[in-house]
Amino acid sequence: MSDAQQRGASCVWCTAPLANATAHDLGARPLDAHGVSVLWFPRCCRTCQKARS
Ligand SMILES: [Zn+2]
Repeated sequence: MSDAQQRGASCVWCTAPLANATAHDLGARPLDAHGVSVLWFPRCCRTCQKARS
């Protein structure tokens, strides 16, 4: 999981860079990292969204 993927700047599945117009928001998710709760904002591109719906 890259930094860009965690910020929602790239697709969580194919790592394509995302523009706001093409990104599909998967919703904020809490991520437990070493006992510290952080929020993760996964987003995917339309291609992956279609392929997985
Ligand atoms: Zn994708």
